[in-house]
Amino acid sequence: VIRFGKLYDALFAAYGPQHWWPADDTFEIVAGAVLVQRTTWRNAEAALATLQSRGLLAPEALATADTAVIEACVRRAGFYRSKARRLQGVARFLATRCGFDTLEKLPTADLRHTLLALDGIGPETADAILLYAFERPAVVVDEYLRRLVRRLLKRDAAISDTVLRTSVAAEIDDVPRLNELHALVIAHGKTVCGRRPRCGECRLSDHCRTGSKVSKA
Ligand code: SF4
Repeated sequence: VIRFGKLYDALFAAYGPQHWWPADDTFEIVAGAVLVQRTTWRNAEAALATLQSRGLLAPEALATADTAVIEACVRRAGFYRSKARRLQGVARFLATRCGFDTLEKLPTADLRHTLLALDGIGPETADAILLYAFERPAVVVDEYLRRLVRRLLKRDAAISDTVLRTSVAAEIDDVPRLNELHALVIAHGKTVCGRRPRCGECRLSDHCRTGSKVSKA
């Protein structure tokens, strides 16, 4: 069993505040959440900057833009055709069917359901948008969190995303900590708990079944 509250405290002590999500407005967060799928934040950020420089980082502008222009702008983020199509789909939805003002009034479960109905918005992206764009208490389950939990418990089998989401939410239900948790888990994954974990340098090793085993080996 993982005490996610304690895990949060340990990660926060190790890495400090992460100041996420690095964006100026709500649509920039939404666009960033789509662009960062299957790539690094650096690449997503470059694509966002290009969209911004072309005046396309707004639902109305993106909704009516030439798709080829959007593709060129987001090429750096990879999967540029599907990402351009997804971005434009989200922009059209926001510009013509349901703006942020309306979405903000929805209860969290309905808002999540609405986001998930959009093309290319899966649970991870929807929860990131809920948490960072709408400041709702959502648990973002990504590969960094799945891997960390597997290693802490030294489990080979995957734990279902629903179980993970519920387990985290049972201990951490406020937006500020959920905001930090997602960013801290990524910081941890990028620092020591990457594909090849560097357990000797890890501040969580005393609480990690994988790390304990490695250090005793
Ligand atoms: S001890 Fe190793 S496996 Fe465990 S969290 Fe740290 S880096 Fe990851």
